[in-house]
Amino acid sequence: MDNWLEYFKQQTSQLLQQLETLVRYESPTNDKAAVDVLGAYLHTQLEAMGAKITLYPRDVVGDIRLAKWGDDTAAPILILCHIDTVWPVGTINTMPIKITEQQFFGPGALDMKAGIVITLAAIQALQEYNALSRPIWLLLTTDEEVSSHYSRAIIEELAQKAALVLVMEPAGEYEALKTMRKGHARYTIRTEGLAAHAGIAPESGINAIVESAHQILYLNNLNDLPKGISVSVTQIQAGVASNVIPPLSELVADVRFASMEHFNEIDRAIHDIIPTVLGAKISIEGGLLRPPMERDQRILNAFKQAKSIAEQMGMNIGETFTGGISDGNLTAPFAPTLDGLGPEGAGQHAAHEHVLIRSIPRRAALLTAILQNWQDATP
Ligand SMILES: [Zn+2]
Repeated sequence: MDNWLEYFKQQTSQLLQQLETLVRYESPTNDKAAVDVLGAYLHTQLEAMGAKITLYPRDVVGDIRLAKWGDDTAAPILILCHIDTVWPVGTINTMPIKITEQQFFGPGALDMKAGIVITLAAIQALQEYNALSRPIWLLLTTDEEVSSHYSRAIIEELAQKAALVLVMEPAGEYEALKTMRKGHARYTIRTEGLAAHAGIAPESGINAIVESAHQILYLNNLNDLPKGISVSVTQIQAGVASNVIPPLSELVADVRFASMEHFNEIDRAIHDIIPTVLGAKISIEGGLLRPPMERDQRILNAFKQAKSIAEQMGMNIGETFTGGISDGNLTAPFAPTLDGLGPEGAGQHAAHEHVLIRSIPRRAALLTAILQNWQDATP
């Protein structure tokens, strides 16, 4: 097959039909039973495609599945899809599927059921043309929308064995691939002061709110948006009554950064905080939640190769970055990772969530060609 684009364009209506089926299986992360119904449906499909399936049962969220094709002679390409969505069961009634000339609307269509459709179509096409040239692993997780607590260890373990990780999250604008995602850290800073009557003996108290105020301005000064660093104080809790010098105060800071080097700088600066108000005591908890997907040389090389594969099909793809997080943040420390392999659309997690229909066959063609032609970097 030398024209995957044409091949998938001719399949557009089947691809949309499959997308409709997956959207109708509503699968909010916190509804294990619903997610497992979709999981079982996909299990049957994967089995029919000759996959070797490993099931990872989960108590709280839906069961996780790993589907493998090919032998163990080469390092696999690992494809990440999550089958959970942010939409509760029943959303399909208030936000029904709507197909216009250019768009497919529906809860979870863009994030990321269209990505699942594309992945299955790509692997099926390669099988049909006997063009599966290396092992492919497909991991279907069930808790991406709530930070992948129950899948993180599996994702990280598989990434260490992979030659390349492809994340089927939606594309950027103009079908750009995502080559950089910021990392995420969170800190809770607790201040202990001393209560006192605000009228009778204010001078004998230690005002925890005033101490927090100093910290807030200090934290705010750590912002460096041109460098991609944001430090946002997002929550504060303090005070017991209007006439009491507050003995306790607790604030939360959300931190985003583009590199681990920047994270280390900010982490040090936060741990350097010393009390300004005499007698106040502070304790700092928290730290790194997710490393950044750093746009390092490995990712840059992977992007260049994907771009050149796309060019051979007459497609021009760019790259973009985002402050949002995906499972690509977890794999990037271990394997070159390309994210945003899914189709273009808009309205992720919003009422106007939709996929651009023309993007579906284009992305299926791109994924298929990458899986077929990928050359590992020579060490
Ligand atoms: Zn997603």
